[in-house]
Amino acid sequence: MDAQVALPASIKTRNTGYANQPPLQRFLNSCYQEFRGDDSGAVADYIPELKKANPAHFGIALVTIDGHVYEIGNSAVPFTIQSVSKAFVFALALEMVGEERVAAAIGVEPSGEAFNSIRLTNDNRPFNPMVNAGAIACSGLIHQVDGAGAFDRILAKLSQFAGRELAVDDAVHASEVITGNRNRAIAWLLRNYSVVLGDVDAVLDTYFRQCAVLVTARDLAVMAATLANRGINPVTGVQVITPHVVASTLSVMTSSGMYDYAGEWIYRVGIPAKSGVGGGIVAALPSQLGLGTFSPCLDSHGNSVRGLKVCEALSARFDLHMLNRSADVRTCIIADYDIFGISSRRSRQPHEQQILDEHHSDVRVIELVGALNFAAIDYVTRRLANEPPNAPLLLLDFRRVPDITAAGARLLGENLAILGNLGVTAILTGFEATSPVSEAIRARTAEVQRLRRFVLLDDAIEWAEDQVIYRHGGFTPVKETSHLGEQALLAELSADEIAALAGLSAARAYESGQRIIRAGESANSLFFLQRGLVSVKLPSGVRLASLGPGMEFGEMAILEPLRSADVWADTAVECLELPLDTFTDYCRLHPQIALKVMRNLSALLAKRLIVANAKVDLLSAY
Ligand code: GLN
Repeated sequence: MDAQVALPASIKTRNTGYANQPPLQRFLNSCYQEFRGDDSGAVADYIPELKKANPAHFGIALVTIDGHVYEIGNSAVPFTIQSVSKAFVFALALEMVGEERVAAAIGVEPSGEAFNSIRLTNDNRPFNPMVNAGAIACSGLIHQVDGAGAFDRILAKLSQFAGRELAVDDAVHASEVITGNRNRAIAWLLRNYSVVLGDVDAVLDTYFRQCAVLVTARDLAVMAATLANRGINPVTGVQVITPHVVASTLSVMTSSGMYDYAGEWIYRVGIPAKSGVGGGIVAALPSQLGLGTFSPCLDSHGNSVRGLKVCEALSARFDLHMLNRSADVRTCIIADYDIFGISSRRSRQPHEQQILDEHHSDVRVIELVGALNFAAIDYVTRRLANEPPNAPLLLLDFRRVPDITAAGARLLGENLAILGNLGVTAILTGFEATSPVSEAIRARTAEVQRLRRFVLLDDAIEWAEDQVIYRHGGFTPVKETSHLGEQALLAELSADEIAALAGLSAARAYESGQRIIRAGESANSLFFLQRGLVSVKLPSGVRLASLGPGMEFGEMAILEPLRSADVWADTAVECLELPLDTFTDYCRLHPQIALKVMRNLSALLAKRLIVANAKVDLLSAY
């Protein structure tokens, strides 16, 4: 099939305006072009009003999980939903009366027979909810709860699935009421076996009305996409039905959605689907897309001829068969390292840094990526088990994890509990208060001992470093004050030279939370921190470094005319500020000082570069 077929100007689609059409739109266009010429099949005529359908009508719509709508042809032409409603009303029945009551009334076995078969199972239940008998039984269950309000309830649910208010085609409804004797026979048979209870005519009318609801191919695509998206309508964002009910619904669509063509369908196309005699088909590929097609000419099974062809072509072209999936669980770990050469942005005192250098393997960091399911988490747990000895501090980073399945979260919780009992402290990062991933994991790790959660990886590494320093006895309270001689920038200067620089500086004090330096301002002084803590941050809030007494900041002023970052006082701060021009004047008179300071500055920058390179190296290794 040629994906580049140009569209005649007569074909209206929302997307024809793009010069650069996405390939999927082009593909749907080419399907439209190729299959619109197929006139085989016939419009349904057993409901007289359906005979009026225009056999030329042909619409295709595809809705993605992120709510993008592709459409072509008569995707906005309304037609009656007919049996496509069965899938959604089954979902509603499950939601309203629960699995057990539904199962007591209706089976889930394919019947191998036509949609209007009157045969029941050996225990006198409809074979499944996708054939008329089962669908009438579903309407009956809803009627048992809602009585005269049953249809309104159904219409409201269908509307939620479609993301707009749907309405009924009264003429089609009336036409089926007059001619629907076969369905009436089925309903009375079900009444005889107490599958349908109460007022049979009222139940039947509910069913006939539900079949006469008007939809477009676009509506069907949104409805299918809602099933594909675990029950959340991707266009409106509304959770229409629970994920559990979605799985039940897609199951019967898979085994029985295409009547007595269901086996062939799942073999050839492999996408859960449901068709109706109005000419509609919905197909929902979990976590990928929802498709809706409309073309009134039906084959001998009652399935839309062109609709089938679109589904077959789409599945074949993009390899969408639901059982033909592949995934490499190993891609879920993008980095696995200890803190050798890696540090948080808190600058450490020399003896602390020495402890961290010696015990870098005490902290293991595993950065995870992508949606995590059972198999991915199993892989992570084996990776943890296979490489003893356990680091006492295990940091699992979830910042790039958009989703975790319930099974994945459970497996993770069990593994962290085992590690907790072995004395490992697990630290989880990427924990936003309201994210679904955080909630799923929190629910499964409530009992885990020693567990810590952080939003930022850097904060978590800093906390882990503190633990390592503490465990190895190196934890000293942050020094109260510092003498200028301890400043790395002033190393190798004589006592007289240092005293001279101190004399040229002004003492400054800041309150906790005060901004000391603002990014973008002119850089005209250097600071020597003597008491308290400061953080260097980008205007975005990202922390570049935290500094304590004995460390300098603003020293880049020697090289750069403008401040490149903010500096904030984390506590009450005392420091000396040395104006740059005073310093430069002094250096002119004492060039040996300039030389030493520049050498010290180069050494400081070299260290930062080495750390930055180690991080680049680490990330490119995965
Ligand atoms: N209303 C139609 C009937 O019951 C629905 C059948 C169908 O779409 N397959 O006959």
